[in-house]
Amino acid sequence: MSILCRVDDKHIPLYRVMWVAATPHFCGEEDCLREGFYEVRLEQDESVWASVTERDDLIAMLETWQGGLGPEQDPNW
Ligand SMILES: [Zn+2]
Repeated sequence: MSILCRVDDKHIPLYRVMWVAATPHFCGEEDCLREGFYEVRLEQDESVWASVTERDDLIAMLETWQGGLGPEQDPNW
């Protein structure tokens, strides 16, 4: 599986993601371009901004990528 996730206009390697916002950005500024988007924090103080579908995709990919409950794990358990 790919370890790249598309967010905004970038392909982000999953291992660069530090955290993903649980709530959409809101700062009250009238001309804010990020309102309703979810911050995705990367290494080295970088952030990208994901739409709700991008965020859901990213979280799903992170959960799969981190292993844990992979579908092919431990077939004889
Ligand atoms: Zn804002």
